[in-house]
Amino acid sequence: MLSVSSSTSATVNDHFLQCMSIHSTPHAKSAQIIHQPNSSLYSYFLQSSQQNPRWLNASTSKPLLILTPFHESEIQAAILCSKKQGLQIRTRSGGHDYEGLSYLSEAPFIIVDLIYLGTVSVDIEDETAWVQAGATLGELYYSISMKSHIHGFPAGICPTVGVGGHFSGGGFGTLLRKYGLAADNILDAYLIDVNGRILNRESMGESLFWAIRGGGGASFGIIVVRLCRNL
Ligand SMILES: Cc1cc2nc3c(=O)[nH]c(=O)nc-3n(C[C@H](O)[C@H](O)[C@H](O)COP(=O)(O)OP(=O)(O)OC[C@H]3O[C@@H](n4cnc5c(N)ncnc54)[C@H](O)[C@@H]3O)c2cc1C
Repeated sequence: MLSVSSSTSATVNDHFLQCMSIHSTPHAKSAQIIHQPNSSLYSYFLQSSQQNPRWLNASTSKPLLILTPFHESEIQAAILCSKKQGLQIRTRSGGHDYEGLSYLSEAPFIIVDLIYLGTVSVDIEDETAWVQAGATLGELYYSISMKSHIHGFPAGICPTVGVGGHFSGGGFGTLLRKYGLAADNILDAYLIDVNGRILNRESMGESLFWAIRGGGGASFGIIVVRLCRNL
């Protein structure tokens, strides 16, 4: 396993912070969104949504930084700056991946945790909802139920599972037989690719749109928001 000495990681962090200040529009102060190992919220964000206690120990690899963006532009900047510094990105939405794919890496890495991008906007007349990747299934179901007693969405049964990872891998639940997987009911999505471009269904094309509905989102970029068909 690769390890990075503390002086090397401090230099990498400095360069990353410098790069972020150049590339991101200042929607939030960097102290609010960038958490270094010596910051008070680093451990909290590292562990808060992690579901598998096996990875909560001193010997597992730790991110150089944790980024908790409030805006897409901060994700775009993080992608560009990670590329420049040769860092990998682990994207985390609900943190329910038991293998730790959203928070472990053998190569030096940062975590982009979408905890603050969890808005759900339901349009009941249109029978759709825009759901940001950091929302949980419970938040999606609750938001739909506040607008309608007859609509729902066919996804998993655990309310704390994140929409970000769940919809990327398929997502099955009790409505599966009648309505299929969660991924079958995604109508559009906004993804930020490796070059920091924001793509929707039209601009990413049908092949990539198909891939991010079952093929795992993290291989292709960071999915920020999806349009769901409410049933
Ligand atoms: C307690 C529990 C109950 C579960 N119940 C069900 C169930 O009922 N039905 C079912 O189908 N599955 C279920 N699962 C499995 C769950 O759907 C998957 O583990 C899912 O990937 C978790 O998504 P997450 O966002 O919470 O996880 P995360 O750990 O945040 O992410 C999982 C993977 O997706 C990637 N990813 C996350 N967000 C994004 C994003 N925005 N863009 C690109 N890539 C992203 C991560 O990098 C990682 O590779 C359950 C899991 C647990 C732990």
